[in-house]
This record gives sequence, structure tokens and C-alpha cells, in this order.
Amino acid sequence: MRLQSLTLREIHLPLVTPFETSMDRVTERRIILAEVNADGVSGWGECTAGENPFYSPEDTETCWHILENYLWPMLKGRELTSAACVWPLLEHVRGHNMAKATVETAVWDVEARLKNIPLWKLLGGERAEIPCGVSIGIKDSLDELAATVQKELAAGYQRIKIKIKPGKDLQAVQRLRQDFPRLKLTVDANSAYCEDDWPLLKRLDGFYLMMIEQPLGWDDIFGHVQVQKNLQTPICLDECIHTYEHAEAAIALGACKIINIKLGRVGGHLQAKRIHDLCLRNGIPVWCGGMLESGIGRAQNIAMSTLSNFSLPGDVTASKRYWYEDTIDPEVTVTPHGTILVPTTPGIGFTPRLERIASVTARQVHLT
Ligand code: MG
Repeated sequence: MRLQSLTLREIHLPLVTPFETSMDRVTERRIILAEVNADGVSGWGECTAGENPFYSPEDTETCWHILENYLWPMLKGRELTSAACVWPLLEHVRGHNMAKATVETAVWDVEARLKNIPLWKLLGGERAEIPCGVSIGIKDSLDELAATVQKELAAGYQRIKIKIKPGKDLQAVQRLRQDFPRLKLTVDANSAYCEDDWPLLKRLDGFYLMMIEQPLGWDDIFGHVQVQKNLQTPICLDECIHTYEHAEAAIALGACKIINIKLGRVGGHLQAKRIHDLCLRNGIPVWCGGMLESGIGRAQNIAMSTLSNFSLPGDVTASKRYWYEDTIDPEVTVTPHGTILVPTTPGIGFTPRLERIASVTARQVHLT
């Protein structure tokens, strides 16, 4: 396939409910969509960078700049035998994984559409149905948190993850354990704690959590080794794992027992699959974390989550939890038993809604 053009669009989508973490409170997303055209066929990718460099060093602006001025010039006009060729062509740019994944995942969609097969089959996926959990942001009160959990369980979701930060942690877990003793519960700190918070982490160890996600610094693999050594609860790393080498180090050192794989954070499908395979060889289960994606990114996450070692419920959920109206047709829905049925149509398996996307586009550039 010959890469002919890249259209970047920045869309603005208000969230149904503001989402609060230890890093930020998000009410509206600014999302870059990439439409790559090759051999007359379009494929779509989504940038998962936040509006601010609080989760990772990248943000919406840096991704737009890197895509337009560095990545596309390295790709345009290229004749590729597979989407797997994209990552090596971009290696001269260090880091900027979210920008790279934006265009790389779009090329995977093109390849699958050209071959007339679902993307998940092209990636080697095996699951026709994926298990879903939800990620619940920090709430003002414990009653509001418990009511939200009740609502999500009624919708069928299989596990609940709550965001925590200092002062909004132990009481929340205590309350949920009291109200929902059998709940599959996890907590995500997004790097809000330091080694001095050890007594708190030790207390969390008594609540049968499925995992504690990323308690320490975003680049502190060594610190997590010390924590994991002294806790029964599995540590799951998210922010620390940007590359295959990070995953290799974390596993070899014993920094975690679970890894959360995000397409944007690791640079797209090729790298996600390498990390997935590494984890599989080492008995480390993985799951797909969410980045408040619109439908395009959600569809890409569904395809990745069909790989065999995505054995824990991920954060990929129904469109309506986040958006009044999504960017794809049909919208993503969840079965009453908390799963997503993987689409069987070619490519990402969902159709971008061009009129809807145009109506929320704030800027656009067509690159050839
Ligand atoms: Mg996380």
C-alpha cells in the first residue's frame, strides 16, 4: 500500500460527566483524529494525549506538531508491505509515542480494510468477546461514589476501578468493601504517592484489591520494586511502561505483577503486541487502560483487547458513559453481562460518522 495523504482533525467533545483523577479534572476533550489514505482507502486512528502534559509529557499541541512536521514527512509517499513497517520508519524520532500511535493505528486500519478482514484478526486476536470494567473518577462524597458503583454494577460491568489520591483513598475503599463485599475492586493512584506513604499502601493491602495501579512516580520502576516486595496485592504499572525495555526491566526486577497496556503510551499496535507477548511469556496478565477516547480510539482498543493475554477486564466501556453522541456508527455498547462483542466487519469494525466529526472539528489540515 502507498501512503497518499494524512488528514488531521482536532475535535472538541464535552464529557457527559467530568472525570477527576489525582492529576486533573477533565470536562471537555480535545482529541486529534488521523485519517490516513492509502491506495484510495481511508483508515482512522485517534491520539490519546491529554489536553495537558500531566499524564505523560505529550499533549494535544505537541502531538499535532510532531505529526505534521516530523512523522508524516517520514511516511508520505511510502510503499509499505504492512502497517508493521510504520514504527521502524519513525524510530529516528525519540519518544512521542502518542503522536506515533495516532498515525500507526490508522495505517493498521487501512491495511485491514484493504485485506477486507477485521483489524483484530490482522493483529492475531483470539477473543470474539472482551470483558469490561469501568474506571470511576474521584467523587466529592462517599455516598456519591457508592451510588455510582451501584449504577455501574447494575449495567453489568465486571470490575470497578476507582481513582484515588491522598485524602481520597482509604475511606473510599473501606466504604466500597462494606457495601459490596464481593466486588472485583481495583484502585488507580496515577503516581500520587511517594515512599513515605508506605503505611497507607500497607493498609490498602488488607482489602483484597485485584491490584493497586501505579502508586509511585511515573518513571519510578525501582520504587515499585520495593513496594511490590512488601505487598500481597499485585502492583499494576501504567505510567512507567512506555517501551518494551521498560516492561522487560519491570518484570525482571519484580516491580509489578500486572501491566496495563495503552496503545498511545507505547506507540501503537506493533509495540503493544510486543509488550503483550513479553508479558505472556512471563506469566504477567495485561489489560487495556482507557484515555477518555472517542469512538475511533475505543474501536482501536477493542481490536487490541482481543489478544489472548488481555485476560483481565479493561477500561473499554460503552460510548454513552462518556459522550452524548459518539463519532462512530454503531456506538460501542456493552452486553448485560459486561462484555463487548467484537465487530466482524473489516478494519476497526465501526464507521466514522463524518458529519458528526465535521460538526465538532475545531481545526483540520490535509497533508499529502
Ligand atoms: Mg492508570
